[in-house]
Amino acid sequence: MNPLIIIGAGLAGWTTVREFRKLDTTTPIVLVTSDNGDFYAKPSLSNAFGQKRSPAQLVTTPAAKMAETQNVTLMAHTRVEAIDTAAQTLQLSHAGASTTLAYSQLVLALGAQPIRVPVQGNAANQVRSINSLDDFSSFHSALSPHAESAESSEIDSKTVLIMGAGLIGCEFANDLLQAGHTVHVVDPATRPLALLLPEGAGLQLQQALAALGVTWHFGATVQAVDADATRLAVRLSDGSVVQADAVLSAIGLRADTTLAVAAGLQCERGIVVNDLLQTSAAHVYALGDCAQYASAGQRTLPYVMPIMNAARALAATLAGTATPLVFPLMPVSVKTPALPLVVSTAHPAQAGLWQADADAADGVWRFLDPEGAQRGFVLAGKHTARRMELAKLTLL
Ligand code: FAD
Repeated sequence: MNPLIIIGAGLAGWTTVREFRKLDTTTPIVLVTSDNGDFYAKPSLSNAFGQKRSPAQLVTTPAAKMAETQNVTLMAHTRVEAIDTAAQTLQLSHAGASTTLAYSQLVLALGAQPIRVPVQGNAANQVRSINSLDDFSSFHSALSPHAESAESSEIDSKTVLIMGAGLIGCEFANDLLQAGHTVHVVDPATRPLALLLPEGAGLQLQQALAALGVTWHFGATVQAVDADATRLAVRLSDGSVVQADAVLSAIGLRADTTLAVAAGLQCERGIVVNDLLQTSAAHVYALGDCAQYASAGQRTLPYVMPIMNAARALAATLAGTATPLVFPLMPVSVKTPALPLVVSTAHPAQAGLWQADADAADGVWRFLDPEGAQRGFVLAGKHTARRMELAKLTLL
């Protein structure tokens, strides 16, 4: 019998393996991944500096241990180049050699790719994004060139310019400041997390991070990055120039659909899956940052909780019990200790308005639909402890 093949060793790939093994201990599983397969929690990348954790310390279970305990054949450093959904085969490349592998069922857990915007200048190629442990290791080394080994958590104080005041940009800003670095954040909007938070909450976060030391550059974009012998000169659209040691782009991620599009699978904002997580091809499933979920009103949901829920449902379906995915309410915690936030947003098509609670010292906002029903909320500071209470009042 051909194996169940899972492509991707991120949270989506490994969680599907774990959930499936709870139900089926014998079906052969092959996990193919272009990275080394180590298991780590990706959210820890944006609070590792503050906690003085080195890249090596972020690995919670090494790949070999995961493969052994989950009874999986791991093909690490192996790229899937093509999928033939009619023949049910994959074309793989590893160390320059090409092979073909047949599957009985296939799970795509391919993640997302950082969105890149064109930047001019002789050092445009030094603009970094962090969406993997490898990306983080390279950034960590750039900020700590005198560290004696990858194990070291010693950091020299540096200036980092972050492009994007979204969730990941704000988390890195807070984290880098906590670790003693100087941080500039550039965003074309007028406040942080402008797409996610009501204005009042965004302004509170802006003030909290400014108090910690962030220099904000709102209403601006990065035009050019040029290097001299020692530093980077970052030219902004408002004419100002910021001297920095590193430039981090955190302007967003896009579902990685390259492989799926080439294989003829239906893709829009992500790989389109129905409520059983089936793609448009038989025996092929998708979840995680690469997927566009029917169960979420055709949204991508690039967060941990949706992956946990999707992996549980998918594992049951793969093990023989068709299990439709039903998402519960899944508030997201924003890891900005300067002002911790919990955010639960409504579907973007949901009509409604944000309203601040008058009696909650400016820390509670509710998104109310035209009938007055609560469809989302934001909690700030000490009010984050009220997450369960607000969740119970929120309609999906
Ligand atoms: P990935 O982790 O990207 O895994 C994709 C895998 O596919 C990789 O192993 C890759 O090697 C493999 N792959 C891709 N293409 C191929 C190919 N052709 N052949 C072989 N292998 C391939 N979410 C929260 O809910 N809370 C948070 O606080 C939070 N913080 C975050 C902080 C940061 C800095 C980032 C970047 C994200 C954060 N997220 C957070 C989002 C969350 O971490 C992601 O939603 C989740 O980790 C995505 O997992 P994934 O398995 O879908 O994708």
